[in-house]
Amino acid sequence: MMRAVIVEKDADGATHAAVKDIDEGDLPEVAEGGVTVAVEYSTLNYKDGLCLGPGGGLVRHYPHVPGIDFAGTVERSDDPRYSPGDKVVLTGWRVGEAHWGGYAEKARVKADWLVPLPDGLSTRDAMAVGTAGLTAMLAVNALEAHGLTPDHGPVLVTGAAGGVGSVATTILAALGYEVAAVTGRPDQADYLRDLGAARIVARADLAETTRKPLESEEWAGCVDAVGGAMLARVLGQMKYGSSVAAVGLAGGADLPAKVIPFLLRAVNLLGIDSVLQPHDARVAAWARIADVLPMEKLTAMVVPASLEDLPRLGADILEGKVRGRVVVEI
Ligand code: NDP
Repeated sequence: MMRAVIVEKDADGATHAAVKDIDEGDLPEVAEGGVTVAVEYSTLNYKDGLCLGPGGGLVRHYPHVPGIDFAGTVERSDDPRYSPGDKVVLTGWRVGEAHWGGYAEKARVKADWLVPLPDGLSTRDAMAVGTAGLTAMLAVNALEAHGLTPDHGPVLVTGAAGGVGSVATTILAALGYEVAAVTGRPDQADYLRDLGAARIVARADLAETTRKPLESEEWAGCVDAVGGAMLARVLGQMKYGSSVAAVGLAGGADLPAKVIPFLLRAVNLLGIDSVLQPHDARVAAWARIADVLPMEKLTAMVVPASLEDLPRLGADILEGKVRGRVVVEI
């Protein structure tokens, strides 16, 4: 038997999440190259909030085990790349949505979906980083691949006190960038300064739409976890030839923007996807995280949690109440 967070759907279509004992034999089989992982840590992302609740269209079948990322030790492997005892990390590939995920003592997944735990990180560190942190690293990599360097000027991070934003702020500051952190929670200003933000921008300053497609050129780059009207506003404030890495939609999926910043300021809008990111890019991003992310800052953004806490925390993250990175000890 093993413990897991199980989400069930009743006859009325309502979902309920609770910790239960289930048979290990209930783990879904994987067609080929399956690996069974003894999960040590998982974490909480916005998507987990959706999957712990009604699913937001992400969950295919009930009963369901959420948890879009996890780190642990290989217990059994049908794939020559992994052997029992190997430490591994999983993010993405719709695990925790279409497939059973990391909120359980064991997970059975395809070997292709795993990444060896990078040198220098524990399984707990890896989940303090999690999908949010990996995505933040991918966003910074994309901005730099499009020419961003610290001497270009301040870099904006939206949704800064959230998971993606906290890690993006920390990584950018550690790389020598001047970070301007946008938050709707003024009480998180000290936390963001401790992570390395040089400047705090109030969410309200960027929340209102403007009729002006171009404002004064402020930002040399942007990691945007918010989308919506804020992203539209930010596009008009970008410096000539700069890029915005579009990561999330915490503020909405619409983009009520003009194309003028693209045409007159050569601004680039870079899409960032962590879910289907190719293996080599994942391995490279994890290695860079282990290299550049200051561990004491990572520790400072961790909120520890247990499986039992998850139904409550799932609701909290959907309401924007979670700060930093929740690490779930399984
Ligand atoms: P969090 O909930 O931890 O952080 C989101 C932050 O956005 C909040 O903390 C808050 O920051 C801000 N925010 C929330 N609501 C609003 C609003 N209405 N208007 C403006 N700002 C708001 O989520 P994550 O950091 O885990 O994820 C952020 C986004 O990135 C999500 O949309 C998620 O789905 C997406 N994502 C995308 C990935 C990809 O592969 N592209 C991978 C991982 C996440 P503050 O309180 O500081 O204002």
